[in-house]
Amino acid sequence: MTFLFDSIVFGPIHSRRLGVSLGINLLPEGCKYCSFNCIYCECGWTKISNIDKIIFPPSMLIRQLLEKKLREMQKNNELPDAISFAGNGEPTLHPDFAEIIDFTILLRNKYSPKSKIAVLSNATMLHLPEVVNALKKVDMNILKLDAGTEETLRKINHPIVDITLKEIVSNLKQFTSNLIIQTLFVRGVCNGKNIDNTTNVEVKEWLKCLQDLKPERVMIYPIARAAPVQGLEKVSLIELEAIAEKVRKIGLKAEVYY
Ligand code: SF4
Repeated sequence: MTFLFDSIVFGPIHSRRLGVSLGINLLPEGCKYCSFNCIYCECGWTKISNIDKIIFPPSMLIRQLLEKKLREMQKNNELPDAISFAGNGEPTLHPDFAEIIDFTILLRNKYSPKSKIAVLSNATMLHLPEVVNALKKVDMNILKLDAGTEETLRKINHPIVDITLKEIVSNLKQFTSNLIIQTLFVRGVCNGKNIDNTTNVEVKEWLKCLQDLKPERVMIYPIARAAPVQGLEKVSLIELEAIAEKVRKIGLKAEVYY
């Protein structure tokens, strides 16, 4: 079973990491579009044959819907802790992402100044300066790094675009501050290959990347919903806490969301 949003502005929902969060889905409604094809993706597989037919929601419409919702929430005294860009895939693929961030900041300041703006992204579009500059403006720039080795990146995230772990880490270095790394730990089998980013070797390589990047903090979490690959294992809280402790030992903040 997959989980797809059928609207541009959704929620508010209660999020493990963001509290009460008003979501913005910049991808087509009811259809997944992403530059990754993670084995655990709640939205299911990216249908590569659909890519040429993708129509992004226009930025003007996004602005109108967001303003309407924030005005309504303000009137009802129900303002959210966060306004988050998530949804049916990778938000930074939207061609007007930078403009959308700019007007979201204006609307947040006008209607809900205490809400944090969060972007959950897979960090594959950081070769574009406009995407990097936009992410530098948000309060919570939450970027994915599930692997410490190329092999594991390919096994877990299945990039559709031509990108390597080395390039992702190098692009992430553009954030000298305001960087939160999100990592999902998982075990399972996909296409007959064992997948496990919790092994000592994998965690050691991932920690080396973190040392290089020096994020403000690291968010660690397991799978929470049904995934396109059957039988994936939800890594235990004890194991995730042990990994978080290794992050703390190298001088970085880490939190487990279970
Ligand atoms: S990056 Fe996010 S949206 Fe894209 S496939 Fe992975 S989990 Fe799904």
